[in-house]
Amino acid sequence: MNALAATSRNFKQAAKLLGLDSKLEKSLLIPFREIKVECTIPKDDGTLASYVGFRVQHDNARGPMKGGIRYHQEVDPDEVNALAQLMTWKTAVANIPYGGAKGGIGCSPGDLSISELERLTRVFTQKIHDLIGIHTDVPAPDMGTNSQTMAWILDEYSKFHGYSPAVVTGKPVDLGGSLGREAATGRGVLFATEALLAEYGKSIAGQRFVIQGFGNVGSWAAYLITEAGGKVIAVSDVTGAVKNSNGLDIPKLLKHARENRGVKGFSGGDALDSNLLLTEDCDVLIPAALGGVINRENANDIRAKFIIEAANHPTDPEADEILSKKGVLILPDILANSGGVTVSYFEWVQNIQGFMWDEEKVNCELKTYMTRGFKDVKGMCKTHNCDLRMGAFTLAVNRVARATVLRGWEA
Ligand code: GLU
Repeated sequence: MNALAATSRNFKQAAKLLGLDSKLEKSLLIPFREIKVECTIPKDDGTLASYVGFRVQHDNARGPMKGGIRYHQEVDPDEVNALAQLMTWKTAVANIPYGGAKGGIGCSPGDLSISELERLTRVFTQKIHDLIGIHTDVPAPDMGTNSQTMAWILDEYSKFHGYSPAVVTGKPVDLGGSLGREAATGRGVLFATEALLAEYGKSIAGQRFVIQGFGNVGSWAAYLITEAGGKVIAVSDVTGAVKNSNGLDIPKLLKHARENRGVKGFSGGDALDSNLLLTEDCDVLIPAALGGVINRENANDIRAKFIIEAANHPTDPEADEILSKKGVLILPDILANSGGVTVSYFEWVQNIQGFMWDEEKVNCELKTYMTRGFKDVKGMCKTHNCDLRMGAFTLAVNRVARATVLRGWEA
């Protein structure tokens, strides 16, 4: 099922559980604004290359729209739409005063030089600068982008509007980025996992983890889980997969991945077929890469007891049904990976206040938000007698619906 169909299906199921008015349901589903722009840049060799950039602004009932910008060859309008919608629900679950948006450029960032990436980012910013802003839409990093990308957006945006650090989050700390932002999604995954395991009398220590993806989110999650006493027994990225039943040495794997641009060839474990990673025997499976990876083809073979969705929409609704019958517990993306946007919010608040927090405060506040989010979701599960995904969706949709109704429709 494609990402948009899957996300909309979850939304509609939540709307039904909440007994939402059908007109309100329709208005919450349709994006506020969809932007599609052509971005042509000169390549380093002098030839021209054209790319298509997107920004989908899904909803702003609860505040400025918020969400990352993704550089990936699979970026397409449906995918960006789904991800924008997920951001609306994610910020509502986290209870931060934002709506949802997402952007992306269809490109392979690994094939572009740094100066080509800079030119592409600046052209994209020129095309969307009048539609983003501190109180309208605030981009952040996502797959294929990072703090340097945000620095270029900030610089380009500031040429038109004056210096405005709060227009993007996930910036370098030297430009007003928040301490703790880089690790935030992974750290949020850790806090959410702790909260879920605690419900079953378990803790991170002693559990065996398998992680798909070793980018920003997967690698930080692996590092922090190991620090908390968990055993990360297998990890994969685009280059391959490695396994060590006694637990991988994550600091060494991080060094290897940095030096070799991937986990492949790591001597502290055995090579594993990446296709078999998700069905490895483990306690906790953490998909931290692309969407739709757990689907009806492999759901039956999943052996984990818990799935923590560090990626966005990694589980297809069809797989959800199969896994629920098998008794596998899934902590949904809009809660599990909300740590990133939550610290983005802290960054924006610091920029607006002109006051910088220390890292301890950032991490401590993040824990409060993640734990509260989990508790609020559990509350909805009880009210609607539903699983964690529907608990999170009903919580979010209800909050956005209430804000929408309160603001009214008078033209
Ligand atoms: N790209 C991240 C996400 O999917 C972070 C978004 C943000 O910080 O605005 O949640």
